[in-house]
Amino acid sequence: MNDFSPLIVDWYRLKKRELPWRAESNPYFIWLSEIILQQTRVSQGIYYYLKFTKNYPTIIALANAEEKEVLNDWQGLGYYSRARNLHFSAKHIRDELNGVFPTTYNEIRKLKGVGQYTASAISSFAFNEKRAVVDGNVYRLLSRVFNLDTPIDSSSGVKEFQELADTLINRENPGEHNQAIMEIGALICVPKQPKCIECPLKEKCLSLANNCINSRPIKKGKTRVTGRFFHYLIFNSEEKTIIEQRIGKGIWQNMYQFPMVEVAKADERIDLSAFKNKSFESPVRKHVLSHQHIYATFHHFNSFPTEINGNWRTIKQSDIQEYPLPRIIDRYLEEEDVF
Ligand code: SF4
Repeated sequence: MNDFSPLIVDWYRLKKRELPWRAESNPYFIWLSEIILQQTRVSQGIYYYLKFTKNYPTIIALANAEEKEVLNDWQGLGYYSRARNLHFSAKHIRDELNGVFPTTYNEIRKLKGVGQYTASAISSFAFNEKRAVVDGNVYRLLSRVFNLDTPIDSSSGVKEFQELADTLINRENPGEHNQAIMEIGALICVPKQPKCIECPLKEKCLSLANNCINSRPIKKGKTRVTGRFFHYLIFNSEEKTIIEQRIGKGIWQNMYQFPMVEVAKADERIDLSAFKNKSFESPVRKHVLSHQHIYATFHHFNSFPTEINGNWRTIKQSDIQEYPLPRIIDRYLEEEDVF
């Protein structure tokens, strides 16, 4: 389809949203925006983008920050490995690459936390390299325009859609082409009730012609979601409390939380007899992550335990916000006025 790119780019120039990173050619800022926007809505991402570009105006400023500081600024966005990878890569660029952001797809792809999609986006937006982006929006749009029924979550689907996107890309202006296809996917060819009347591709769209928009794209299977059951212990004594740092791999790595006991089942009882003066137990609160649903109960005690676990840290209650906290805890503190 020869006119695919001119059609989408013309539409984009007229209808695109003005977003703070759109005018940027600084690869560091583009990288920041792309990492923030992974698994984050644009409206929420803008706030964090402005905060990060203000607090860390250069890659060196980000590299020189403490990890705790970066995680604190990330608080509320979730998927904290993204923040850790940003910080790690900033230090790598400072120490190994003379502070200069890599300029090619292959070099950008080597940064921690940067996959094929993100490297394509950065290299095409910042350096005009001819790399087609394929994100969820692009899968949906291409599967509809070309009426493709290959599952997008199969290895053959990944290959087929990437090859198709590569053949469509505008050789002169790959960055704007990529922005345009993603923007149409985000604003027009949306999952439910796409706005076909406003779509620049409506004359070409095979699934519109074949009346099968709602069955595109095809997916093989949904990701299994696991339930986890956390019991947090909130000790309260003389305006102090106890926190611990999460260690090991997994969600919320290195962040802080109230001492926590995890059980395998919803109805499994936990033994809290070692702790005295229990005052209150919250109803179970559900927190939804992409592959896990966390069911949390908060147990409140009006004294400290006699034995303090080696990993526990006693802090002033008023200092708790200085520690990077998972959203589930932050929200509980906010909503329940705990201290
Ligand atoms: S015509 Fe409709 S279904 Fe086809 S690409 Fe445009 S918005 Fe999507």
